[in-house]
Amino acid sequence: MSDTLLRLTNLDAHYGDFQALYGLDLSVVKGEVVAVIGANGAGKTTLMRSISGLLTNRADAIHYQNQPIGALRADEIAALGIALVPEGRQLFPSLSVEENLVIGGKVSRRGAWTLAKVYELFPILKERKDQASTSLSGGQQQMVAIGRALMANPDLILFDEISLGLAPVVIRQIYEALPGIVDDGMTAMIVEQDISKALSVSSRVFCLMEGRIALEGRTNDISHAQITAAYFGVD
Ligand code: ATP
Repeated sequence: MSDTLLRLTNLDAHYGDFQALYGLDLSVVKGEVVAVIGANGAGKTTLMRSISGLLTNRADAIHYQNQPIGALRADEIAALGIALVPEGRQLFPSLSVEENLVIGGKVSRRGAWTLAKVYELFPILKERKDQASTSLSGGQQQMVAIGRALMANPDLILFDEISLGLAPVVIRQIYEALPGIVDDGMTAMIVEQDISKALSVSSRVFCLMEGRIALEGRTNDISHAQITAAYFGVD
């Protein structure tokens, strides 16, 4: 069959009576980096939460490695090899950097990512390994969140708002680390506010608007004008 790793079929999401996603259809192929862009409130985080099991769905709304996973719990989905780097990091504040990383490894599958390899990727974390995670800068905390996800050795890594609120130099460091992560055979879905950054690392892009896919295509085939139109909802 195809190399499709993740397939969403008519995916809806609700918060109580409020519908945040409407019938999304999309596929991600093994080894791709796919970007998800869209204005505030477009549904990007909801999409990440749906895939990672923090919001439950119909079982067949989400297939991963050809298995229906839409109704599984977050821990079951993590065990299948999907890791989320959540918006706002969500580190364990009372734990050290290293303890946060080790927790990521608790659900680890077999793979190349170890504490040593995370420290090689982000050397500053090794220097700070015994410090409380909350004492780090926002950028370093984002590195811990990424490292924690890598420690699980996922096949699919979801980055929610990868560079939001970080200094440009840190954003550059994180983006420089991305090819190394993906070269190791991982597939990535990146939610990113910075459209140019998103396009610079992805082969395909999806633009969400008000819970629907307003535009999708190969990064090289889509013009900036099309993206701007889809992003802001203008014709
Ligand atoms: P942002 O860039 O602001 O994070 P987003 O594209 O990630 O935006 P979501 O956070 O997925 O968007 O939100 C999609 C819609 O769902 C918004 O209208 C938001 O107000 C609503 N929403 C998100 N979380 C909840 C919640 N817990 N309860 C009710 N409505 C919510």
